[in-house]
Amino acid sequence: MKLPIYLDNAATTPVLPEVVEAMLPYFTELYGNSATLYSVGVAARDGVDTARETVAETMNATPDEIVFTSGGTESDNAAIWGIMQANKHRGRHMLTTPVEHHAVLEPMETLAENGFEMNFIPVDSEGRVDPDELAKCIRPDTVLVSVMHANNEIGTINPIAAIGALCRERGVYFHTDAVQTFGKVPIDVRAMKIDLLSLSAHKLHGPKGIGALFVRRGIPVIRFQEGGEQEKGRRGGTLNVPGIVGLGKAAEVVRHYMAEDTERLTFLRERLIAGLQTHLVGVRINGSRTHRLSFNVHLCIEGVDGEPILLGLDDAGICASAGSACSSGSVEPSHVLKAIGLDRETARGALRLTLGHETDAEAIDYTIKTLCGVVAGLRDLVRA
Ligand code: PLP
Repeated sequence: MKLPIYLDNAATTPVLPEVVEAMLPYFTELYGNSATLYSVGVAARDGVDTARETVAETMNATPDEIVFTSGGTESDNAAIWGIMQANKHRGRHMLTTPVEHHAVLEPMETLAENGFEMNFIPVDSEGRVDPDELAKCIRPDTVLVSVMHANNEIGTINPIAAIGALCRERGVYFHTDAVQTFGKVPIDVRAMKIDLLSLSAHKLHGPKGIGALFVRRGIPVIRFQEGGEQEKGRRGGTLNVPGIVGLGKAAEVVRHYMAEDTERLTFLRERLIAGLQTHLVGVRINGSRTHRLSFNVHLCIEGVDGEPILLGLDDAGICASAGSACSSGSVEPSHVLKAIGLDRETARGALRLTLGHETDAEAIDYTIKTLCGVVAGLRDLVRA
């Protein structure tokens, strides 16, 4: 078995060899600025155009609706600032959930300190939005609703099509952070009535530092970045051509194995959950059991802290992620775990294991055995 076993695919994913191969010529031979007219520039522009078409196709958008950005964080920021600033005359109210990524929460909080208003749509104990609850939160001055497609910590998938339909009916713009789902879960921006969608290449085996924002044609947003006419004037700055080509290639490759991977990873996810529940006492699975990312396992293990578990796993060659961070001597649950109602004691032993394209059954069985050993060792220490 090849070590390390990488079970942190929600944090980032390895770049596929075919993606690296597609990018390489754009560093060395086709290095032109894509805004120029001579042939190395034109070749770079062709690479960008192809990537734009692939990204658009993957979500049933048109190429002119795709704006390339530096990643998920910029896309989320640009969507929120862009819509709220461009639509001030219509209203200043925006809605989101308490389990969003900080890339959504922080720009909203900053806007709220500067004359806008932000409210939370409640989520249930699985971190899921009920469209009926959202309907109650929409006001005449609501301009934007931002609800993530799937949660990056606990893997819960939201009913995006129902939320989109409701927002369209009520005349409110709908943004979704699809950083954890683009290339993993089928997305159709038309059928799901999405107005703005954020994605990031490094979550789908593409390079880091490149992403995109889908902006439905005709939606008024302010410019993301000033100082150039690139991206039809929406985002100034020389394009990151190799990154964009890498994103396009990654989207092309992953959408071919999306269905197969979903089925395989769902099977492995359930094997991991069942194995841990059989061999460990005091295991609680967080998030939805039915509306869940195929690659996400998020659990709390009673009586132990997440960080020493991570260190124990790392010693055995397994990469994972904790759900609570140690700050000033006490363990602080993430905002997501707090929002789904976990108390500090339960959230201490939070652990996220996220599977990927390379994960196989052998890796899962090794993880079950290793994690049980690490937890037993830590529990012995506590008792001693
Ligand atoms: N949104 C979600 C749901 C994420 O999981 C992440 C990254 O972890 C981001 C936004 C930020 O994306 P990026 O790392 O590309 O800035």
